[in-house]
Amino acid sequence: MFPNVGYVTGRLREARNVTGRLREVGRIHVKRVEEVSEPLREPGIITGYRHENCSVIQAVASLFNATNETVNFWTHFVASVYFAWLLVSLSTIMPLFEDPYLFPLTCYMIAACCYPLMSCLAHAFSCLSLTATHICFFIDYLAIAMYSWAVAYLYYSYCFPPNLMNSWFSQIYLPVAAVNAVLATLCASLSRFIIHPGFQKTLRVAAFVEPFVWDSFPLVVWLYTCDTSTESCGESRIYHLNQFFCVITASFFYGSHIPERLAPGCFDYVGHSHNILHIFSIMGTNEQMRAVLIDLKNRREGLEKENWLPTPMWALQATPSLLMCNIFLVLLLTYYLSKHMRSVHQTCPQNSSRQPLVTATIVPSSHTKDQ
Ligand SMILES: [Zn+2]
Repeated sequence: MFPNVGYVTGRLREARNVTGRLREVGRIHVKRVEEVSEPLREPGIITGYRHENCSVIQAVASLFNATNETVNFWTHFVASVYFAWLLVSLSTIMPLFEDPYLFPLTCYMIAACCYPLMSCLAHAFSCLSLTATHICFFIDYLAIAMYSWAVAYLYYSYCFPPNLMNSWFSQIYLPVAAVNAVLATLCASLSRFIIHPGFQKTLRVAAFVEPFVWDSFPLVVWLYTCDTSTESCGESRIYHLNQFFCVITASFFYGSHIPERLAPGCFDYVGHSHNILHIFSIMGTNEQMRAVLIDLKNRREGLEKENWLPTPMWALQATPSLLMCNIFLVLLLTYYLSKHMRSVHQTCPQNSSRQPLVTATIVPSSHTKDQ
């Protein structure tokens, strides 16, 4: 009477098996701190660690499960989408790609979209393997370094103090910022090869604090010397100060590992220092954007009178060259890392996938999620 019943039930059984297998592949078993190898452990984080050698499907599935990377991913993913939406919206009301006066803003907006995007991808796929973790974070550092360059170009173009224009400082400001962007990628990446946790953290923080200080110097001078009653800084100053507050707060939590260090186990999934770093860094970028949009509009006439127009060369030649230079650096570090991991695998195959070599003086040492 029902000749195809056997066929249909067979297909249904197969479909059930396939979905069961997919569920099993995507299932995330979080681990406690004592179950993961030493370099993976974070101060004050007791549980919520992912497997050390996830598949791509497991890495993606983990973003929809509670792990200590879930909030890290979503905070920067949402921010990246938000900045991309801002870029598209601004491009509909401003000639971002045609007007050379706006090229520094265009470079900055693209960098502001890319650095949270690279960060969230690094957090998502840092569990694939130890080698993949290091490469992911090399790329993350590259994106932050390019962002630091874009900020220097932005401040030079719209927030430079009149008393420093055409001085020796203005001559070296952008070339030094470009060198800083390469050094930041290099130092932050090399910090992953250092065993000593204090030295590693110091080098990584210094790699980004130094460009921040250099980039911000002319802005601080301008905010200090400008006349708030008549100049653009009267309107933008509050947003610039908010941005400094956000960056200092983010750096404090990143460097101190507070609050999880004070209450171990209480902030494993939500509210740990890296989550706070992400949120404040995005808020800082947002405030910076608001401030500069005010300055570039209010100061345009005055800057044009001073003949302080950024040459398009910085956007069309210097920025792509700097990006290429940083990419070359990351490829070089990746080559060195792969070579090193291969030699570890040959000499110590049972440990190669789980533990970096910790007896050498300079080795890939950390599997941390830090930016
Ligand atoms: Zn991060």
